[in-house]
Amino acid sequence: MITAYIALGSNLQCPEEQLRRAVRAIRQLGKSRILQVSPVYRSAAVGPGEQPDYLNAVLALETALPPRQLLLALQGIEHTQGRVRGERWGPRTLDLDILLYNEHIINTPELTVPHRAMAERNFVLYPLFDLVGREMVLPGGTDLDTLVANCPGGALTETGLDLNSEATCSQ
Ligand code: AMP
Repeated sequence: MITAYIALGSNLQCPEEQLRRAVRAIRQLGKSRILQVSPVYRSAAVGPGEQPDYLNAVLALETALPPRQLLLALQGIEHTQGRVRGERWGPRTLDLDILLYNEHIINTPELTVPHRAMAERNFVLYPLFDLVGREMVLPGGTDLDTLVANCPGGALTETGLDLNSEATCSQ
């Protein structure tokens, strides 16, 4: 069995509910089991124009799905939740990225693992850090503690939202 770490992000159409729906959908994936879901963080959008803040989280998934099948399954969930691939870094109802797939290094035209931007994204590193702790060494040899310390964007605070409970969304 593989442990994969999946990043979740949303900044449209009630992000809190989008993340909850995504967790429920990932729970339904075959050959897979959610081990842990991180706290939820709020982060300012990086990208063009004025955009709402993002909500971000990471979950640990035990899975027997090969990487490409996992990517396709996650893209199916994005699609179900109304994700339309538009401008790069534009707003989105749901973004699901594979951060890590055990210690595997994957470089194919459609999949780069570890995710190529994770070192620069505090909204990915913080929730990952919550799940795995500072000692984790990523494929390639850098420990997560060093990445968090050097990550641009500064500290983030948790929202206190719980993705396992019902949404109380007013957005
Ligand atoms: P994004 O707009 O950030 O969701 O990027 C989606 C594209 O990134 C898709 O075409 C994927 O094939 C590609 N991609 C490459 N590596 C990854 C990864 N580790 N997780 C998710 N998508 C990836």
